[in-house]
Amino acid sequence: MTENPARRIQDYQVFGEFGEVNPSISDGATFTFMTADKMTELFSAEIEGCFLYSRHLNPSGHFLSQSLAQLEGTEDAQVMGSGMGAITSALMQLAKQGDEIISSRTIYGGTYAFLKNFFPQFGVKTHFVDITNLELIKSLINENTKVLYCESISNPLLEVANLPELRKIAEEHNLTLVVDNTFSPMVISPKKLGAHVVVYSLTKFINGMNDAVAGAVCGDHSFISSLKSVNDGAAMLLGPVLDPIRASMIMKNMHTLHVRMKQHSSNAMYVAQNLEKMGLRVFYPGLPSHPQHELMKSLMNPNYGFSGIIAFDAGTAENAKKIMERMQELKVGYFAVSLGFYKTLFSSPGSSTSSEIPQEEQDAMGMSPGLVRFSVGLDDDIEESFRRIKQAIQEVL
Ligand SMILES: *Cc1c(COP(=O)(O)O)cnc(C)c1O
Repeated sequence: MTENPARRIQDYQVFGEFGEVNPSISDGATFTFMTADKMTELFSAEIEGCFLYSRHLNPSGHFLSQSLAQLEGTEDAQVMGSGMGAITSALMQLAKQGDEIISSRTIYGGTYAFLKNFFPQFGVKTHFVDITNLELIKSLINENTKVLYCESISNPLLEVANLPELRKIAEEHNLTLVVDNTFSPMVISPKKLGAHVVVYSLTKFINGMNDAVAGAVCGDHSFISSLKSVNDGAAMLLGPVLDPIRASMIMKNMHTLHVRMKQHSSNAMYVAQNLEKMGLRVFYPGLPSHPQHELMKSLMNPNYGFSGIIAFDAGTAENAKKIMERMQELKVGYFAVSLGFYKTLFSSPGSSTSSEIPQEEQDAMGMSPGLVRFSVGLDDDIEESFRRIKQAIQEVL
């Protein structure tokens, strides 16, 4: 298997029913069987190329799942109706009543809320840690610990997880290492670095168009089939299914992912370097001032840069709001949550995507209320965009 994720996606060829260069979109919730025995057989085991019912698997979802498996270098994958659908299904498959999870504290707000407020109702307890503190992680492991959870580049502080070291800990204690790679598709290949299971919100960079919500779980055959089991599979029973039309749209966008990631990364690097030159506190793993810059360099794939997300500290929530409103007026991009879009998006995590995280905990993880997070777009003339960003900041600070 080639080391180049874009090449692997390109080499995965599927044609449509009439030889179209894209696979046909499947238009059926259910599938017909020519013999009764075949249906009985499919209920007991998967049969390649055979479909039962679209919540279980449909051809368009299958093709997208297979291209995601190519991207990650995993044996298999399963697409879901959202990133949260993917994350919650994977975690509910792995942790049962009485089990414990050790999770990074700097994670997506929805994942944090699920682990903190929702999962305990099912008897699953989560310890939130500074994921760079390996000794702390080891000290929290006990016989009930089942899962180690983190984001490869975390939301919103852009901490980089030391996946090879986390894998060693996971192996030693028989834990499953689950990594959310939403911020860094292609840039980082978590499976190659030690993750057992890779989860995604496809809503972000992978689709890149901000016209769909979708997710995926990538892993080995046995784990992916367990998710789809008609008897006890979280994906099958909770039902976060992705519509075939959306699956087909997202699959086409995967073929431009490498081009987009390079442009997002080079634009983000330009903005990060220039914000830092203005004397601001900037968070970007591509900057030598970032605490895990060297680690990031040792983990990342060549040629895709350091991804497109940066953050800077505007000091106070009030300053952050004014700067973002002004940037929108100056057409830098949109004041909106989410990321990975062709236009620049900015928001203040403290009052939006990370507002699920209590203030004391935001303080403990070093998250300033004035933090402004940018998902840098595909701008052709990033110099002009930066002039406007600078103008907005100078008017306020
Ligand atoms: C957006 C996001 C999610 C949730 O994905 P949805 O598609 O919105 O359900 C999970 N993790 C990260 C890092 C995200 O940015």
